[in-house]
Amino acid sequence: MEKYAPFHVKKYCVIDNNDEVYRKFVNEYEDNYHFVYKMKCSCYNDKFEVYKDDNPTVIIRCTNCNKEITVYDLKYYPSAIKLEDKLEMEQVICCNQNIFNVYPIYEYGDEFEYDTEFDENDITWCIIFIREIKNNSIKKLIDDETA
Ligand SMILES: [Zn+2]
Repeated sequence: MEKYAPFHVKKYCVIDNNDEVYRKFVNEYEDNYHFVYKMKCSCYNDKFEVYKDDNPTVIIRCTNCNKEITVYDLKYYPSAIKLEDKLEMEQVICCNQNIFNVYPIYEYGDEFEYDTEFDENDITWCIIFIREIKNNSIKKLIDDETA
């Protein structure tokens, strides 16, 4: 099965079947139009600080090389209502910790395979889970319909 993701994030989206948490999300969510990933930096690290605002926009920062990766931002999605306001990003803290694995799930419209001008950026929904590493605590960070 071919898997899709928005262009801004695709090269950091990996499949990690050795990760039990990833496998659980695949079992729960993945089908022909929901694609589950784990975030991995180009330096191969998979641990991130997480920043979010109320739009919601989600940006993560690699704990190894400090690269910032946008995981979710409405400005990239054709069917999204664009928001003018720039809101303040807040760092996500969970169990007094700030280092997470990040698992996004991108949804496409159920007819997308038949769309001759299919646009990989045209997601309809996004859920992001984070796993706080020290306590193995899992939290749903966003659950957002793009339009
Ligand atoms: Zn990195």
